[in-house]
Amino acid sequence: MNMTQNREIHLKRYPVGMPTAEDFELVTVPLRQICEGEVLIKNQWMSVDPYMRGGMRNVRSYVPPYQIGYCLGGGAIGQVTESRNPGVETGSLVRHSCGWRDHFISNGSDLELLDPGKIPLQAYLGILGMPGMTAYVGLFRIGEVKKGDTVFVSAAGGVVGSTVCQIAKLHGCRVVGSAGRTNKVEWLRSGAGVDTALNYSEVDSLQEALASACPDGLDVYFDCVGGHHLEAAIATMNDFGRIIACGMISTYNDVKPSTAPSNLMLIVRKRIRMQGFIVSDSRDMKSEFNDRMTQWVRAGRIRWEETVLNGLENAPKAFMGLFTGENIGKMLVKLGDPE
Ligand code: NDP
Repeated sequence: MNMTQNREIHLKRYPVGMPTAEDFELVTVPLRQICEGEVLIKNQWMSVDPYMRGGMRNVRSYVPPYQIGYCLGGGAIGQVTESRNPGVETGSLVRHSCGWRDHFISNGSDLELLDPGKIPLQAYLGILGMPGMTAYVGLFRIGEVKKGDTVFVSAAGGVVGSTVCQIAKLHGCRVVGSAGRTNKVEWLRSGAGVDTALNYSEVDSLQEALASACPDGLDVYFDCVGGHHLEAAIATMNDFGRIIACGMISTYNDVKPSTAPSNLMLIVRKRIRMQGFIVSDSRDMKSEFNDRMTQWVRAGRIRWEETVLNGLENAPKAFMGLFTGENIGKMLVKLGDPE
């Protein structure tokens, strides 16, 4: 690659329904020299996350919409290859939010220095990054999970869900996870150690399958999916149960609003508490999360899977795969090796 040029993925148009390859464009743009105070970063890993779909429509949300004809953004890790900033040395590994491009120029203020030691670098976009912290904040701050609770987790084969399952197990909970593919269900049982793993694409009735997996009812539901999963959880929940509304991926590409859940009145009857949250509101928990998760990972008490596509050109495919369940664990794109 000529170092006077950079490759970026631009949003070509707002997707309607399921995103398609035609909604994205790989563009080559000039890469200028860095100025005094700036650094040049070569990206090595980038994350694709379901929340990005919310930015691909022209409406106000908790993330501003991406602009048509401009580079997309999202979590990434890179290495500083050139520095004119005394605070950031050449060779430093940094986490930032300028993914979807091979290189990027920064004044250093938006960079987080990483010191991964023996932990694989890309884990800082998954279990030790925003998704891992989402699991931690959701379970402890929002769900106030207690030892002995029965916890149901949807999208349990993904990065947030599989982390939730394992933290809840470490906390002495009984855990039921649901996922849509056999390999995920098998890993949930054998790798993540959940008590019961359901394949929602194979059961006749999710509600019946969940009820039989929770003979004493359900205390906490960690919702990543919404729709029929949420409906089944509400139906199975004990009085005074808690629903941690983390995400509702089954609805993100809906053109018409979903009709499920159809049983919201049970929230009143069962005195259920349901609370949504956005992980970035809980920055005060970041160092507690970093410390505990690093210890769990180093001690081998929490495991993770990842699904890696190679090359920037495959970033749209990785993103689209989130909505068809192509990933087990964290979905990542590998952009390059260290220099
Ligand atoms: P995942 O790694 O879980 O990947 C997405 C998974 O969702 C897919 O692999 C697929 O697994 C499942 N899925 C996709 N479409 C459907 C569907 N229609 N019905 C059921 N399952 C579906 O992603 P993340 O762990 O990054 O995110 C999980 C959830 O957490 C999302 O809802 C996301 O928006 C939310 N989130 C919220 C945050 C917050 O601050 N509130 C922060 C980060 C994430 P399968 O094969 O099982 O169908």
